[in-house]
Order: sequence, then C-alpha cells, then structure tokens
Amino acid sequence: MSGQPGKLPARDFEEIRLAEALEGGRCPICDARQEASHAALRGLAREGATDRGFRAELDKGVGFCQPHSVGLSKMELLQTSSQLATAVLLDAILRRRLAALEKLSGANAAAQGRRLAELAAPRCPVCARAEEASRTAVSRLLELSADAAWSAALGGGEICLDDMCALWTAAAAGPKEVQSRWSGVLAVQLARLETLQKALAEYAHNSTSDRRQLITTEQHEASAASVRLFGGSPDRDRAR
Ligand SMILES: [Zn+2]
Ligand SMILES: [Zn+2]
Repeated sequence: MSGQPGKLPARDFEEIRLAEALEGGRCPICDARQEASHAALRGLAREGATDRGFRAELDKGVGFCQPHSVGLSKMELLQTSSQLATAVLLDAILRRRLAALEKLSGANAAAQGRRLAELAAPRCPVCARAEEASRTAVSRLLELSADAAWSAALGGGEICLDDMCALWTAAAAGPKEVQSRWSGVLAVQLARLETLQKALAEYAHNSTSDRRQLITTEQHEASAASVRLFGGSPDRDRAR
C-alpha cells in the first residue's frame, strides 16, 4: 500500500518530492539520493570542466567512484552528445592518480599496502551530495511523521531495508517524541515485511516447474518487491 495520490500535505518542493515517491511506491530516500546524484552529474557535465573551484578539489585528490564515472559520461552524452567535459575531468584525476601510483611503486611493501587503501577511496563528490540528500530526507521524514497522514504513508510505504534502518538509527538518536512516533511507523513496516516474506516463501515454493501454474499475482509481486527491499527503488525515468 502506498497511499492515494495527492493525499499527503506538503509545504515545499522537497516535501512534494518525498510525497510523490511514497505515493508512487518508491523509497523516498533512494529517490532523494538519485535526484541529488542526477543534479550533481548534470552540473558537472555542464560546468565541471571549467569550474575552477571544482578543479582545485580534484587537485586535492577528489575523484569519482565507479558508478559515477560512468554516470558522468552518460549524463554528458545525454546532454551535449559529447564527452569533452568527462575527458577533461578524468584526465585531471588520472594525472594525479598516476603520479601517486608511480611514486608508490618505489615504496616498500608495508607502505604500499597502507597507501593503496587510502588511494582506493575515490572521495566522490557525487556520492557526498547523495549522502547529504539522504540525511536531509531522513530527518525531514521523521519530522513529517508528526502528521497522521505522513505517519500512515511511512508505515505502509515501500521503504528499502537500508533506508528503513537509516530512519530507525536517526529516530533512536532523536528526542523521545520522535522515538515513539517511529515505533508506530516501524510496527506497521515490520508487519508489511512479514506479509512480504510469507508471499515470497510461497512464490519460492511454487517456483518448481510442476507448481509454476500455482503462482498468484501477489506472490509474483512479492518477488519484485523483495528485490526493491534489498536493492533500493530503481531509478525512475528522467527525461530532463
Ligand atoms: Zn531506499
Ligand atoms: Zn560516487
């Protein structure tokens, strides 16, 4: 159950987006993370190569993680049909990385192990923006849970397991009233997960070739919902 469209009271753009995600059956925190990384990648594809502040960041060792290296290239291709900004940025990162790797190849084994672990951390600015958006969404949702409609939507909403734990962690560290609001939401979420687990077990039970015709729509949906529970809500189409 993800609530009826347009029912959640929202005061600003941020809340409208959280409401749309919940009402559309998506995890609102995954959604906020995806929105933030898309915005960051759009900005970098447009201005990253000429942005002096960002170039200075790269000189300090900032780079892109694997998914966002690919993401940047795809975003630029989508926006400008070229790969110029991506090439400029990756060149700047590669230059710095290469110098570090070459220097390291001459060091002793213990130093190599230590430094390689440091070098492996991409310090990705897109990930940083996504994490920030995730934290903001978590605290905003816990605030909004004071409203009965939001609390109900959060209880029945398709929140992925990681983000459910993120909400829980933040609630547990919050004031008493947030903790008690959250325990109400959590009880409904846990009941949702119990129902999901039962349907998933039945689906698995019916998955042998002789029983396949017994699979119900609910069991079929449980299988897709379980992938979203563990894998997060899939990226929605962005035509912008
Ligand atoms: Zn999520
Ligand atoms: Zn990243």
